[in-house]
Amino acid sequence: MTKKVVIVGGGISGLTAAYRLSELMRERKTAVRIHVLEAAERFGGVIESTPQDGFLLERGPDCFTAEPPHAVNLCKRLGLEKELVGVSPENRRLHLCHNGRLFPFPDGFQLIAPVKASSLLHLPFLSLSAVIRMACEPLIPPRNSPGDESLGALIRRRFGGEVAERIGQPLFGSIFSCDIDTLSVQAAFPRFAEMETKYGSLVAAFRAIAKKHAAKQVKPGERPPSIFYTFADGLQTLVDRLVEKLKESDLRTSAEVESIGRGTSWEVTLKGGERLEADAVCLALPSFCSAKLLTGIAPETAHALKPVARKSMITVNIGFAAGDGPSLPAGSGFIGSPKDKFEILGCTFSSQKFSSRAPEGSSLLRVFIGGTSCEALLSASDTEIGDFALEKLRTVLKIVTGPLFVTVSRYRGVMPHYQLGHLDRVAAIEGSLRESPGLYLAGNSFRGAGIPACIERAEATAVSMAEFITFFEMSLKGV
Ligand SMILES: Cc1cc2nc3c(=O)[nH]c(=O)nc-3n(C[C@H](O)[C@H](O)[C@H](O)COP(=O)(O)OP(=O)(O)OC[C@H]3O[C@@H](n4cnc5c(N)ncnc54)[C@H](O)[C@@H]3O)c2cc1C
Repeated sequence: MTKKVVIVGGGISGLTAAYRLSELMRERKTAVRIHVLEAAERFGGVIESTPQDGFLLERGPDCFTAEPPHAVNLCKRLGLEKELVGVSPENRRLHLCHNGRLFPFPDGFQLIAPVKASSLLHLPFLSLSAVIRMACEPLIPPRNSPGDESLGALIRRRFGGEVAERIGQPLFGSIFSCDIDTLSVQAAFPRFAEMETKYGSLVAAFRAIAKKHAAKQVKPGERPPSIFYTFADGLQTLVDRLVEKLKESDLRTSAEVESIGRGTSWEVTLKGGERLEADAVCLALPSFCSAKLLTGIAPETAHALKPVARKSMITVNIGFAAGDGPSLPAGSGFIGSPKDKFEILGCTFSSQKFSSRAPEGSSLLRVFIGGTSCEALLSASDTEIGDFALEKLRTVLKIVTGPLFVTVSRYRGVMPHYQLGHLDRVAAIEGSLRESPGLYLAGNSFRGAGIPACIERAEATAVSMAEFITFFEMSLKGV
């Protein structure tokens, strides 16, 4: 008998879970009918690449990292490997906005670590005492107490308070749109804790990794490969290819799930009243959406999901006609420091970061707004938000001419806030699922919010679903 699986949510998590499940079921020669139900009119969730006036806008994410390798590996399986596009080699540098001026992070400075000692001489946004404190990082003994720590505390402990405020907060706080003193290292950046334990120092760890990469990948005179990837037509390519590969499944947009019930099987009811029965259900949704659907049917899980806090974000794509754009320094963009009360998280120089994002000579910028500015602006009009973003840019980028277009995108509660102790909350959520065999949770609320982490969790969820279905079928056959 054909098994039925309903996946709720057609973002990267839901589509990946569906695709991996279809691969596994084909390998196991088990018939399964997969339904993917997406409330919006399109698939992709926060991933949305849209053409406009000859430009290509990324409204949500604009790329994924090569490490961890789950996104790149999925692209390989989907036949998209040759279509991957890295950041233009001449524009890999990131800038920090300090007191209204842009300062490039120097060569040999990786994320937060001066891998080359010479990079310490090119950090004009830090005081001399902060640079000296940073140089002492390899001498600081590793943390020996177990348990979670905030990212802010880790950076302060290893590199000093000024580095945490001037570099750590803009760099890492902008990813999660939150204060790094509230962000769990174990949940958000587990590699940092592992690196400290293994090497005793983050600088030593980054050095060792850089050495390994240099020896492995780069021929003399060549630039190292990009660590960020997308496609010529934007990240939507990945979503579209997943949808194409799933054409034998029942994929629906404008299909909002209103409730989930349980009789002899799972019962999923769509807005409009249609009811689907399923052997397994996977919710690939923001945690508050899953909690709402599970309140009646799996109250313990719904209760455990509620403390996972969420943050909102706004992006503003701003296009300038040829010759009208600001003169940009080489680089992929800049991050802003809340210490300077800058009020935007940062700005991507989209037309420089990746090729074919804007017509020849034109410029495309993308501003990120998060934190308290975002909360205050979420209900403002597009014009007000656009004016706010342009005003912030004007001082830094010397914009003199009006833009060709301003496109605002609001993301309400889509980013998880991994607060201290988040992994304990995840353990409670996962433990509660034992009460609901056949119920699965994917999405960005658990062990990573980046696209590779969402793909990793979605694929692991598909493996669990495949095992459940196969076990279920073997039990019925009496094996
Ligand atoms: C502005 C922004 C920029 C980002 N930049 C990057 C980046 O550059 N690189 C990176 O790796 N990551 C980035 N991220 C993070 C990453 O993009 C997300 O964590 C990831 O795409 C989330 O995918 P998802 O499928 O889990 O969730 P979502 O994309 O949120 O998809 C969930 C889907 O569920 C649907 N849904 C909700 N309720 C229901 C219901 N009741 N019935 C049916 N469907 C429902 C929603 O409509 C939505 O389509 C960014 C995130 C944001 C918001």
